[in-house]
Amino acid sequence: MNLKLIKVNIPVFISSYIIMVLIFLFVSYKFVINDFLLLEKSQNENNINTILKSMNTNIENISNIMDDYSKWDDSYDFILNQNKDYIYENFREGTNTLEDLDIDFIIYSNKQQEVLFSKYRNKTLETDHKLFESDVLKKYKNLNYANTLMKFKSHYLYLVKAEILKSDETGEVSGWITSGKIITNKSLTQISKAFTTINISNVGTKETDSIVSLSYLKNIKIKTSVNSEKLNNIIQFYADNYIFSLITENKRDLVNNGKKTILTFNLIIDIFLLVIFYIIYKNQTMLIQNNKLLELKVNRRTKQLSHSLRKIKVKNKELYTQANIDSLTQIKNRRSYFKKSEFLLKEAIKEKKSFSILMIDIDHFKKVNDTYGHAIGDMVLIEFCAIINAIIEDDVFGRIGGEEFCITFFDKDEKEMDIIAEKIRLRCEESSLVIEDKTINFTVSLGLSCREGFDNVDEILQVSDELLYKAKKGGRNRLIRSTPHKI
Ligand code: GH3
Ligand code: MG
Ligand code: MG
Repeated sequence: MNLKLIKVNIPVFISSYIIMVLIFLFVSYKFVINDFLLLEKSQNENNINTILKSMNTNIENISNIMDDYSKWDDSYDFILNQNKDYIYENFREGTNTLEDLDIDFIIYSNKQQEVLFSKYRNKTLETDHKLFESDVLKKYKNLNYANTLMKFKSHYLYLVKAEILKSDETGEVSGWITSGKIITNKSLTQISKAFTTINISNVGTKETDSIVSLSYLKNIKIKTSVNSEKLNNIIQFYADNYIFSLITENKRDLVNNGKKTILTFNLIIDIFLLVIFYIIYKNQTMLIQNNKLLELKVNRRTKQLSHSLRKIKVKNKELYTQANIDSLTQIKNRRSYFKKSEFLLKEAIKEKKSFSILMIDIDHFKKVNDTYGHAIGDMVLIEFCAIINAIIEDDVFGRIGGEEFCITFFDKDEKEMDIIAEKIRLRCEESSLVIEDKTINFTVSLGLSCREGFDNVDEILQVSDELLYKAKKGGRNRLIRSTPHKI
């Protein structure tokens, strides 16, 4: 792995950051905004309930008042006898009965549907009173009681009708009291401050989300709609038919604030993520730098190690040479010669091949040393080895003592070995070494024995040595071999 190629991938870092930010935004928006929407829904339902309950309570209050008035002997008498005192006591000019009762009109009618008395707090309604009264009496003619809403011209009203009985509620119904109160936008706003605006309207819709019924107000159809900024309700009131609607409008502060909260929260998380990404980025950069430094160190160490390894190899080679090669003649030393010969002897026994040892000793070498000096003697030894190396091919050649040498022949026939041995003897005899202006001649004696009857190198060498001794005894510069050669 080449660390130089490893870099902190900034585009990958940036795109991972953006992906995480978007995922977080999506997840938080998707799950949290739902809670705000549910909260907005339940808040809106509460607001609607508040206004509907208030309207219902208004009707209930009027109904309670009318209950008192209609189950009163004085009222009963008034209908039957048109007792003027009753009106004088309750509704004469200057009295504030309607204001005190918080109603806008009161109508007394008898069983013949005739209006016996009426009074108004609202001027326009009073002006139109004849039409209004005939409208009201006609509409609720068949009912003894009514607690409802009604529309007359541009007026929207709470309306209560109650039958007039004696205080103990005995006897026949003598007539009815119809009373009510005008519903204004202002009064509605006072009831529910939760809506930004609330208006009474004739506009309805066929679509309905829910239908609500209270003790007096029944069958109220509600339709809620939203856009990005506003939430609208159309609250439609029905009696037998559609009466009117309330249209409310609210700003969607809850949801919009919720969105702002989510965005703020996301912004904080984004900054936090940015810091984390920055720390990771810095760590990665540091890690890569450290790795590069480490690689440099490792490379340096590896170079040092391979240098040391090379030195060790050279040293090993030197040691091997020292252990196996004769330092003067550069041929195998005694140890190495024996090792190789023992190996070949095993092979020869196993494969039934010929195995022979030719032992060579330089004649009167002591004299060479004594005459020319030890150094020249050394050079003679070197030249002698050169002569042998030029004659033999892959045969094992080693120095086993001072001026004693051996050649091991493997898988060579008798004739071949004789030729080689004779060639050695002759070349040595014929060689005239000129060293430092001195001409030196030397001869060698040789003993050649085969492995017949022996299974170790020492024994064969012993025989070769004996044969060599015979050659020395016999006058030197000759070869004596064991006869006959057999495998
Ligand atoms: P011969 O073998 O013919 O009987 O006589 P020789 O003189 O060779 O007898 P011997 O084997 O007793 O002597 C061997 C001599 O070789 C003795 C020793 O000083 C000499 N020699 C042994 N090793 C070395 C060497 O490494 N360098 C030199 N220059 N001489 C050595
Ligand atoms: Mg000797
Ligand atoms: Mg000798």
